[in-house]
Amino acid sequence: MSERVDERLERAFDKRTATALGKLGLTTVGDLLGHYPRRYADPGALTDIAALEVGEHVTILARVEQATVRPMRNRNGALMEVVVTDGTSRLSLTFFGKHRGSLYNHEKRLVPGAKGLFTGTVGLYRGTRQLTHPDFTLMGEESDLDSDEALLEHATKPIPIYPAAAGIPSWKVQGALRVVLDTLTDADVPDPVPDEVRQRQGLPGRAAALRSLHRPATLEEAYQARHRMRFEEAFVLQAALAQRRARTAAEDATARPPLPAGQRGILADFDASLPFALTDGQRQVGDEIAAELARPRPMHRLLQGEVGSGKTVVALRAMLQVVDVGGQAALLAPTEVLAAQHARTLRALLGPLADGGTLFGAERAGASTRVALLTGSLGAKARKEALLQAASGEAGIVVGTHALLSEQVQFADLGLVVVDEQHRFGVEQRDALRAKGRVSPHLLVMTATPIPRTVAMTVFGDLETSSLTEVPAGRAGITTVAVPAGNVRWTDRTWARVREEVDAGRRAYVVCARIHPDEENDEKNGQKPKVPAKDFDDVPEFLDPADPGAAGAADRPPLRAALEVVEELRSRPELAGIEIGVLHGQMPPDQKDAAMAAFASGAAPVLVSTTVVEVGVDVPEATAMVIFDADRFGISQLHQLRGRVGRGSDPGLCLLVSDAEPGTPAFARLEAMTQTTDGFKLANLDLELRSEGDVLGAAQSGRASSLRLLRVVKDAGLIEEARTAAADVVAASPDLTEFPELARAIRAQLDEDQEEFLERT
Ligand code: ADP
Ligand code: MG
Repeated sequence: MSERVDERLERAFDKRTATALGKLGLTTVGDLLGHYPRRYADPGALTDIAALEVGEHVTILARVEQATVRPMRNRNGALMEVVVTDGTSRLSLTFFGKHRGSLYNHEKRLVPGAKGLFTGTVGLYRGTRQLTHPDFTLMGEESDLDSDEALLEHATKPIPIYPAAAGIPSWKVQGALRVVLDTLTDADVPDPVPDEVRQRQGLPGRAAALRSLHRPATLEEAYQARHRMRFEEAFVLQAALAQRRARTAAEDATARPPLPAGQRGILADFDASLPFALTDGQRQVGDEIAAELARPRPMHRLLQGEVGSGKTVVALRAMLQVVDVGGQAALLAPTEVLAAQHARTLRALLGPLADGGTLFGAERAGASTRVALLTGSLGAKARKEALLQAASGEAGIVVGTHALLSEQVQFADLGLVVVDEQHRFGVEQRDALRAKGRVSPHLLVMTATPIPRTVAMTVFGDLETSSLTEVPAGRAGITTVAVPAGNVRWTDRTWARVREEVDAGRRAYVVCARIHPDEENDEKNGQKPKVPAKDFDDVPEFLDPADPGAAGAADRPPLRAALEVVEELRSRPELAGIEIGVLHGQMPPDQKDAAMAAFASGAAPVLVSTTVVEVGVDVPEATAMVIFDADRFGISQLHQLRGRVGRGSDPGLCLLVSDAEPGTPAFARLEAMTQTTDGFKLANLDLELRSEGDVLGAAQSGRASSLRLLRVVKDAGLIEEARTAAADVVAASPDLTEFPELARAIRAQLDEDQEEFLERT
């Protein structure tokens, strides 16, 4: 936005308004225009008062029914009580004054019959909902709306209601926008959507849309404008992705074709040694990947698969194809636990094929490779050795966490990067690792949970997608039960069940939402309160704190903590004689490994842990999982957690312990979990139950976080259209020289995302 315009903004407002707008982050005309109404009030219909929630900051359209002023009983001063109504329900407004005279102005204005907008936080006083000292503006009054036109508009046109914020009522924002819109020219708001695209889609221009959005004559017009801004969001995003795809498609990569049939390599030997047959899906996706690796263009593929669908084997086969022709593969995991586990798994799957050097067996001579593990916490010696193996090419496969991104890590010939459990990795990290090869390595990204197509298109729009939908045959399935937290009989039964599993030679996870008991307890024990876990290993993806069934409610019992639960379980009679381990993100890596190993071997068959076990951990003997405070976790996270059990031939059992009340969104999530194990169904449901920001935030892609109006599920059709249109535009002008406004919008977007990414890290 041009400076000229911003000066205009400064001149237009008094200091107080400008400060208040600034607090909302609105300092330029561009900011203000981009501050969209949350909804529109119909001047002919009053707000449904019965639907207001206590604690909510609201702006309502209501009519004054009665107003009384009386002196306060026990103190000096006067109290004015105004009852407003929507025709059915009532809400009281209270104003306090030093004396009756100081309320005179209000008395004069808030007379029965007066209609206006009132804004404030809904409180509760003696069982009645009320607003204390609400800001208000009345229809037919001068105030902020001082022209005839403004008055008329206010009385007959949809009233934009802006996101609520204390200190600046909605109508002040509206007033500010009026000033801006009055002098706005088309040249002030360049349109990133090219004319021909706009015409084909039948969309209004940007300036017109902004006018309609902030000052609609009809609701219809407002909605059309909103549609157009949504399209713009999708279009700019998809154009950025299309450019990215085009750039990748033009990059060179080393072709890593499979060895010719008949020539034996590690992959062929590996296939021959597999104790199970690949599923059809694994075979099909495997062929797809094999063909892409054989091309001199970098593969950019997203492999999404149901929990337990066997993504690791698919990834390993791709890695072996690369190793067979002299290249290396890197496998990137989100946590140290998972990286260590991957290294173990790969070595176990490879068996003698991971011995390094050349094997001379009785009737065969074949190559083998090494799997090196490189994490941030390795000792100096182990680290040096791993670095050497990576640099010399002795390790065909290098497994690690972010540490692999460090500049000291060199590869002899990096041909393939596999990123596991993508949702913890940003685009930037993908790029950093890819930059490690002399030419771009091939890239395979694996997601932990199935994601709906439009999310994939939005968040991972620069990747091609493959899906594994079936899980290998022979799995006995998993039963999920919601267990009420306070019920002693259920609790006893829970631990008795865990005992049965352990006695049968199986294992059980007990998952807690946090590590330490609450700070208050720690203080009582004379210890310093511990800092809550920051390690992302342990952060449950908490839902909206405003969700009454989930986080935040003050009267609910504190969250169960792993360190407390482990002590409790060690003294439970049902579990007497059973070794119980503990695992959380604040433990040193060697202790984490030891805990995981003791659990896997059965030395400690019950493991109390935080969400560190969420992704990828694979212990086939694990059959039971108890999740405390299950209502505090999101669906995808529960699905992931649950995916850790029932991976062998014994049936799994998952107990979701919570005190969520029926009817709350939290309860709905748990219910869904008990009803299906289909990850795609759950993912869609998740999207419906959660706010968009959560979904995209969880996907951890910087650029998607800037979506404002777009809703990836509901706007699926629109996203598809935008994608096609964007692809055409980018094909016509790959560097967008013909579409400078679009190029600028993309740059602005990238800058914003960059900032956000930096803030996060
Ligand atoms: P995920 O897709 O969740 O990462 P994994 O790759 O960890 O799943 O595989 C889960 C388990 O299934 C592993 O123990 C793996 O060895 C096993 N597995 C993989 N493919 C098959 C198959 N085709 N048949 C039987 N078991 C398989
Ligand atoms: Mg996995």
